[in-house]
Amino acid sequence: MTPYLEIGGDYREVVPGIYMIDLPLPFSLGIVNVYLVRLEAGYLLIDTGMQTDACFDALARALEGLAVDWPDIRRILLTHIHPDHIGLAARLLPLTGAPLDLHRADDELLAHITNSDLHRDWQQEILTTAGVAPEMRALVHSALFEVQQSFERLIPSRLLCGGETIPVAHGLLEVIWTPGHSPGHVCLYDRERRVLISGDHILQHISPNIGWQPGHDALGEFLSSLDRIAALDVDLILPSHGAPFTGHREWVRKTHEHHAERCARILELIDGGASTAHLIAEKLWNRHLTPFHYRFAIFEVLAHLEYLERRGAVHADRTGQAYLWTRG
Ligand SMILES: [Zn+2]
Ligand SMILES: [Zn+2]
Repeated sequence: MTPYLEIGGDYREVVPGIYMIDLPLPFSLGIVNVYLVRLEAGYLLIDTGMQTDACFDALARALEGLAVDWPDIRRILLTHIHPDHIGLAARLLPLTGAPLDLHRADDELLAHITNSDLHRDWQQEILTTAGVAPEMRALVHSALFEVQQSFERLIPSRLLCGGETIPVAHGLLEVIWTPGHSPGHVCLYDRERRVLISGDHILQHISPNIGWQPGHDALGEFLSSLDRIAALDVDLILPSHGAPFTGHREWVRKTHEHHAERCARILELIDGGASTAHLIAEKLWNRHLTPFHYRFAIFEVLAHLEYLERRGAVHADRTGQAYLWTRG
């Protein structure tokens, strides 16, 4: 047994009826917070942690401490389908007998990802058009292969669209659709108590990466989702990574600024002759990235290029294998 297995499982009641539970992650984010919310009868579990025994054991320890049995979990809701949020869902659904809530757009994405041949071809094609060399494409493929294995097809009981309300012991949670980090990301808002369970949409010290897909203005959607959250009165943000914090409007302002700066920098690089997403990413990060991180860097650049193109600032020549970007 490694010490790693003993990490996580700490819990605390952050506001009456909402428990934050720490689960361990085997990569740099360290911890994912899942939330257990008291219902009139039983509990709602928001997110599930990674598909690892360490996560499962940590969650089991926390539930034991709270004297909650698996069947007391009456509903499971996923903020989005990234492996640190969805991972244990397939194991917890039969154990709890709970129905599953997931946003429609992430349900579609999950269907795509779990069709591994389709998803691999799709990814390779995107990397080709981004100007990524065949050797690097192969490295990205193997780096992501294992991650992809951790996705399992789930059948939600309810497909969310945003706007639903979930009655809980202390009032109501409103489902707010916040696409960008993932197309079907949702936050949960307790309007009366001004509490926002923010998933990965708002993380205090991290700018969430943008989950771009061809034909989607993921960055534009992300920025509008931020404005939607800024319009709400929030006294406490309960994120999926890091401690609870306040100051969502300031965070939204800074994040807008961050993306505006990145867009300006990309335009500069295009002016300097960086004509493909690969060349732009190389200059933007300017350090060695693992194939895993490189893939996210490329998609981040593609999200910004799509955003800039839709606003007439850049233009792509799509006649060759690799798309060539110039000022619009
Ligand atoms: Zn995520
Ligand atoms: Zn996450």
